[in-house]
Amino acid sequence: MLKHITVLSGGMGGARFLQGLLHGIATGVLPGVAPDAQVSVVANTADDLWVHGLKVCPDLDTVMYTLGDGIDLERGWGRREETWSVKTELAAYGVEPTWFGLGDRDVATHLVRTQMLDAGYPLSAVTEALCRRWLVPVHPRLRLLPMTDDRVETHVAIADPDAPSGRRVVHFQEYWVRLRASVPAESVLFVGLDEATPGPGVLDAITDADLVVLPPSNPVVSVGTILGVPGVREAVRATGAPVVGLSPIVGGTHVRGMAEQMLTSIGVQVSAAGVGLHYGARSQGGVLDGWLVDERDAAQVERLTDAGLACRAVPLMMTDHDATAAMAAAAIDLVR
Ligand code: GDP
Ligand code: CA
Repeated sequence: MLKHITVLSGGMGGARFLQGLLHGIATGVLPGVAPDAQVSVVANTADDLWVHGLKVCPDLDTVMYTLGDGIDLERGWGRREETWSVKTELAAYGVEPTWFGLGDRDVATHLVRTQMLDAGYPLSAVTEALCRRWLVPVHPRLRLLPMTDDRVETHVAIADPDAPSGRRVVHFQEYWVRLRASVPAESVLFVGLDEATPGPGVLDAITDADLVVLPPSNPVVSVGTILGVPGVREAVRATGAPVVGLSPIVGGTHVRGMAEQMLTSIGVQVSAAGVGLHYGARSQGGVLDGWLVDERDAAQVERLTDAGLACRAVPLMMTDHDATAAMAAAAIDLVR
């Protein structure tokens, strides 16, 4: 019986997968998973930024709002029935940045977080407090763990003919939100990552799990940063639990987001096999035992099994909770 599942999650892709996983547990469609199974989410915090004096944690909030049923489903981030008075007023003062989507309801979350951080609480304790509102009432057996309490930020180098070096470095959020990832990323930098310490409970969640899942999150700026926290990759490699991943690349493209730009910038082929081989088989020094690819990518299965991975091609589009639960079931079945 699987009693404890740990998922290394980014924002939207990870949150949608988690919705399906929880739906699968609740409806009993996941093979060998206990009905009261615990789910630990180790979430990426390298997208975090300070805006107008507020600490914003996009991936933590996307997971929290999505699973707590407060997310704006169409946008995929931020609060439902959001209003934008604060943003409009700040713009009227001419205060930069104006490109970041700071909704009025969302601001309350950032105010609580920032006050608690200022009072000396670590991000993990703040997240636990915020989750008492959003997750505890609906998913009492789910824990949301920031990958680290330390400050880590993904930055992206882009070409800038006006700069003396010919390039400029922007925060990942500026690359994604303001520039819409429309210019090539020359390189990706993870500021503070090498010196970061795993957050409380993170290593134990991986070590004590009965199953570790790499959901279809961004392999570079979501799962890549989590694995990059010193000690995390080693814990994943060493855990007694099987480790299974689901490809975020379907038919040679990311479904939503900017995984293509990020993979290209680190020289990884934008394909289901490219990402699977980038993670690698645990038997060959990597982090995975199994890797699910979409049906459209069935031709790549052999390459992946040759590289030591259990691999199967199944539908990997998270169109609704049932479809996503079926993906989770297939992932579990692959490595059980
Ligand atoms: P972010 O932090 O909000 O960018 O979210 P994640 O890193 O958790 O996930 C983003 C990735 O999810 C995207 O780059 C896509 O490749 C992937 N994705 C989104 N929707 C789907 C889907 O329906 N199926 C699959 N296989 N991948 C998806
Ligand atoms: Ca993210």
